[in-house]
Amino acid sequence: MARSKPTRAERPSRAVFPAPDHDHERCSHDAMAIAEAVCLERGQRLTAMRRKVLDELLASHKPLGAYEIIDRLALRGARPAPITAYRALEFLRENGLVHRIESRNAFVACVHNHLAGELVVFMICEHCGAVGEAASADLAETLSSAAKAAGFAPKSPVIEISGVCTHCRSR
Ligand SMILES: [Zn+2]
Ligand SMILES: [Zn+2]
Ligand SMILES: [Zn+2]
Repeated sequence: MARSKPTRAERPSRAVFPAPDHDHERCSHDAMAIAEAVCLERGQRLTAMRRKVLDELLASHKPLGAYEIIDRLALRGARPAPITAYRALEFLRENGLVHRIESRNAFVACVHNHLAGELVVFMICEHCGAVGEAASADLAETLSSAAKAAGFAPKSPVIEISGVCTHCRSR
């Protein structure tokens, strides 16, 4: 099978907070290509609704609530039933294409192509609302040994930190 999915080695590491003038078109295009490859690999279908929901989330690096997504979809066509949008979000989440930001009750598209179950650190900017996604092998190691000591089996370790992003700080 032709490998269309870029591996991590082939992808330059992304800035946690992409510069305001970064090539976001490319960013979202790459993320959609990865989503297609992931679905193909797993024999899943990226249905029209799943694609539309992901597309709205890929419009920026800012999280959107489920109803914001529905409102945006309604501007482009028929307003989807909430359950339809939720199901699409659930699918995207299960496949690691979208993350839920618990503290904001919102969702953000993953543009990092990491493994499912990998520790994710979300840094949420209080000024511009951007969400940066960082990975830390050291932190993952520390957490996993803490969990092990507690006899706890972590499923999807996520850390959310509020603060001010590098671009807002330099403003
Ligand atoms: Zn971008
Ligand atoms: Zn991610
Ligand atoms: Zn910011």
